[in-house]
Amino acid sequence: MQPVASHFVNGAYLEDAGGARMPVIFPATGEEIALVHAATDAVIEAALNAAFEAQKDWADWMPVERGRVLRRAADLIRARNRELSALETLDTGKPLQETLVADATSAADALEYFGGLAATLTGEHVPLGGDWAYTMRVPLGVCVGIGAWNYPTQIAAWKGAPALACGNTMVFKPSEQTPLCALKIAEILLEAGAPPGVFNVVQGAGAVGETLVEDPRTAKVSLTGSAPTGKKVYASAAAQMKHATMELGGKSPLIIFDDADVDSAVSAAINANFYASGQVCSNGTRVFVQSGIRDVFLERLAARTANATIGDPRDEATNFGPMVSEDQLSIVCSYIEKGVSEGARLICGGNRIERPGYFIEPTIFADVTDDMTIAREEIFGPVMAVLDFATEAEVIARANDTDLGLSGAVFTADLTRGHRVVHAIDAGSVWINQYNLTPVEVPFGGMKGSGVGRENAKAAIEHYSQIKTVYVGMSPVEAAF
Ligand code: NAD
Repeated sequence: MQPVASHFVNGAYLEDAGGARMPVIFPATGEEIALVHAATDAVIEAALNAAFEAQKDWADWMPVERGRVLRRAADLIRARNRELSALETLDTGKPLQETLVADATSAADALEYFGGLAATLTGEHVPLGGDWAYTMRVPLGVCVGIGAWNYPTQIAAWKGAPALACGNTMVFKPSEQTPLCALKIAEILLEAGAPPGVFNVVQGAGAVGETLVEDPRTAKVSLTGSAPTGKKVYASAAAQMKHATMELGGKSPLIIFDDADVDSAVSAAINANFYASGQVCSNGTRVFVQSGIRDVFLERLAARTANATIGDPRDEATNFGPMVSEDQLSIVCSYIEKGVSEGARLICGGNRIERPGYFIEPTIFADVTDDMTIAREEIFGPVMAVLDFATEAEVIARANDTDLGLSGAVFTADLTRGHRVVHAIDAGSVWINQYNLTPVEVPFGGMKGSGVGRENAKAAIEHYSQIKTVYVGMSPVEAAF
């Protein structure tokens, strides 16, 4: 597991053991599986310099050839899916059953999609009587990507693919909890033909991220992280008028009406709270259930949750793994204590599991009310809050009563109600009778405190390029005097 070196800069692994030690811990055992070092100032300088020097030439490539590099990288990732998934499992603790289908594959989709778009990014011709103008879609320059720990491979590709397709270069800083996977993306992009310096990876915690964002060579920052970090990074980018995409947290509503298919709604609630042990930003952690099906819903939910196969995430039979770290486990435990002390009814789980690593049971609270801490704050762990509701108008108002707005969903058999309710939910991604599917073809991102900008789909191009207007005068210039 030990990478060749901590960083990947200018087309090669780079080490500087002077940087702070960052042990890499396998969350399912608590064992140290690798050691990397945080980037020193010299490493940060080398990475930014490499990205800056490589950018103009990369932007001058034929777009179709830039796209071909990305598509080749996608093919290499697919061919190595098992190996990359196993690494993702070691980095994050997520079950191999999940990582085999959700991580490297999603990275490959992004590279393939934006590889295909690269040659389509054109401007337009604007007739102006005799004069005319044209627009060009031009890259921003050096983009800094900063990742969270829940999807280290996917986040590197969701940021890197559109950035590179548009002719930018990138310095990517993974989360300090999960430093391994992005290095593989850098290796593969080089192997696929990306010139040295086009995609660089440097390790470190928040301070390294801050230095990258503040450097004048950085034109854009894209952060995936928590809302408090997002506010800091967005402010820092704004101070130098830099472009910014902020993919932040959520406290999303999953609304289940009486007429919903109960088993499907139960499946959605399980996926929306327990996939990746609940460490998913778009999770539907406030599950509003209409009173008519509440009892049957809770009964089936509890029965099915008891069937989770909890264990070593490297075993493909396991479908529920550990939290990423001891710290995250403690945070989740403290929220569970608050749930109990504030009067929510624990119907499932609630305990740390007695085994090595950072395991906690999938946990469900019923009788949750809107004012409880577990209904207001993002927990980022496997803790589901079930709230009762009576009417459509009531549930819409309650669902929107949050500063966050990443996602949301409605389960109903009534087609018109489904559309009416999702239209009323203030969130960037909403589903009808589905949850948490985020294919590359559709935009993803938050409203309100959940962020700005969009990843994926054609929408991401807007956030990794800018429009330049060229006005062409066809007649002599006249002046007043
Ligand atoms: P975090 O905010 O603690 O850290 C995110 C990243 O920001 C890390 O790489 C960290 O080192 C870096 N960072 C911290 N302070 C910084 C600073 N001042 N300047 C620059 N970089 C800094 O988040 P986390 O705990 O790693 O991840 C969990 C959070 O991420 C949750 O809130 C979750 O909802 C969110 N998330 C959002 C999405 C999305 O797409 N919307 C996806 C995954 C996770």
